[in-house]
Amino acid sequence: MDRATMQERFDRLVWRVEEARIKRSEHHIVKIVAVSKYTDEEHIRLLYDLGQRAFGESRVQSLQDRVERLDDLPIEWHYIGRLQKNKINHLIRANPFLMHSLDSIELAEALQKRLAEHGSRMECLLQINSAKEETKAGVMPESAVETYLKIKEECPDIDLRGVMTIGAHVDDDAVIRKSFEVTYSVYESLQKDGAQICSMGMSRDFELAIECGSNMIRVGSLLFGE
Ligand SMILES: *Cc1c(COP(=O)(O)O)cnc(C)c1O
Repeated sequence: MDRATMQERFDRLVWRVEEARIKRSEHHIVKIVAVSKYTDEEHIRLLYDLGQRAFGESRVQSLQDRVERLDDLPIEWHYIGRLQKNKINHLIRANPFLMHSLDSIELAEALQKRLAEHGSRMECLLQINSAKEETKAGVMPESAVETYLKIKEECPDIDLRGVMTIGAHVDDDAVIRKSFEVTYSVYESLQKDGAQICSMGMSRDFELAIECGSNMIRVGSLLFGE
């Protein structure tokens, strides 16, 4: 992809986000995380050059490699993938700006233990399985508030900043909307406990997510896809 095509895709995305957020409220600000798992370093540099600063990776190994190789750029790295317990130390070393995919109390406890050993902290979001899909990670919406508060209580080195979800994987907009609404209502009830980030919306559904209150979207294929 050449620079002009990248610029066109980026501008188009920025405008669509702009229209969606204004529809919700003039004061509603949405952050774009460019998911770079599909692309190479050269394209990350290209998009960085066009002004994008937040990038997301879904594999610990790729995150580590890119943090290292793009060390000359002040990129804000997000980790959005499923975390296996044996990769925790690697993730701590990569030191992401935000980890979106804390998906169980067990994972939180394991992460807490390692963070204490390293003397580090990590900002995280609690992932919610908002459509209750078997193939998806995350805590069930009914127990999300309780789990969030428990992690906050028991894991002093994890800074919980909010929630994340992946919209229902279906064609029916009403079902996708429902999964975003469920997540937003969990987020709303956690605002008094410091939740500030509601990460939802990907290439196919970010406008709907913003309409439902998302303030952080994770977009990959629309920017970097074929
Ligand atoms: C890959 C991925 C995205 C981006 O998906 P696109 O549909 O390509 O925009 C967002 N969130 C998570 C958790 C992902 O794994």
